[in-house]
Amino acid sequence: MDQAKKEEFAHEFYSRQTVLKELGPKGQRRLAQSKVVITGVGGLGTVSGLYLALAGVGHLQLIDQDTVEVKNLHRQILYSTDDLHYPKAEAAANRLKKLNPLIKVEPVSENLNASNVERLLKGADCVVDGLDNMATRYLVNRTCVKNKIPYIFGAAIGLEGNLSVFMPPETPCLECVLPNLSDTDIHRCDTRGVLGATPGIIGAMQAMETIKVLTGMGSPLKGKLMVCDFNDMYFTNIEVTKRENCATCHGELGTLAAKQKLVWICGQETANINPEKPLNLNLTKMCKHLEDMNLNVRLRSQLALIFNYKNFEVSLFGSGRMLIKNVKSEKEALEAYKDIAKMVKFRQFFSG
Ligand SMILES: [Zn+2]
Repeated sequence: MDQAKKEEFAHEFYSRQTVLKELGPKGQRRLAQSKVVITGVGGLGTVSGLYLALAGVGHLQLIDQDTVEVKNLHRQILYSTDDLHYPKAEAAANRLKKLNPLIKVEPVSENLNASNVERLLKGADCVVDGLDNMATRYLVNRTCVKNKIPYIFGAAIGLEGNLSVFMPPETPCLECVLPNLSDTDIHRCDTRGVLGATPGIIGAMQAMETIKVLTGMGSPLKGKLMVCDFNDMYFTNIEVTKRENCATCHGELGTLAAKQKLVWICGQETANINPEKPLNLNLTKMCKHLEDMNLNVRLRSQLALIFNYKNFEVSLFGSGRMLIKNVKSEKEALEAYKDIAKMVKFRQFFSG
């Protein structure tokens, strides 16, 4: 599309939105100039990402470490059966670029952790929560407080959901409101279950709040925690205030530099293993190398190679990160990782 055609297309694409007196062409330009980071493109992130892309947020960055599985499809609305086994960030980005060719969508297939969170959230005008665990939420919260980035918190499980807009330093932060929660305290999709419409509603509200924060429209949900129970459609907003002794708000961020674990079990049978230092692998060469080793590469995407090793499904990313599915324990995952690394001469991954 040449520039004139692109402008004409954009004018018509957004016409039902720019006519809104609350937004107008000025608000539309603000959206186009904004960068939003979505941390996790699962049930929440596929929905917030969809509406933010369609609204015309100029630069969307999608961070997700996982690949698409059959059990995701009932609620993670950007994926179809064609996307199975592909990295979620990549599949979601491809879909969003098709839905709105006017914006930039950047897939980041990394495991969000203390060593990359500052780099990945840098320059964001807003961070949208699409996470499924508290440990990573706290990491994101601390980074947002430190860098004064608005953080659109959302959580959805079963038939219940929560929403809040944290705008440091003006408002309380996530850890003022929900401190010290461990992931064993909260319900998970694999145990409690979730109806697709639950993250659908919360994700759409997160997109709404993000657009308001970016453009100055309306009154975002600041200083309030929205609690939704879809069983009986009970919605309430609880006033929340800064917690006097919140270490995060006081800038005491010591635990951010905590030593990284190499392995995470995310969900029941998946392990993520980061190399000690990120590598820069040439996946084209690596693919040929794996095939020479008689490892059948089932699928090759832009960001990953997916192959079978013993009973495991392994996704190898350009950074040297591996996602190993069908493992029973961290030990088993680490052994598989070491075996594969040795076979394909990744010995430099492990110093010990
Ligand atoms: Zn706080």
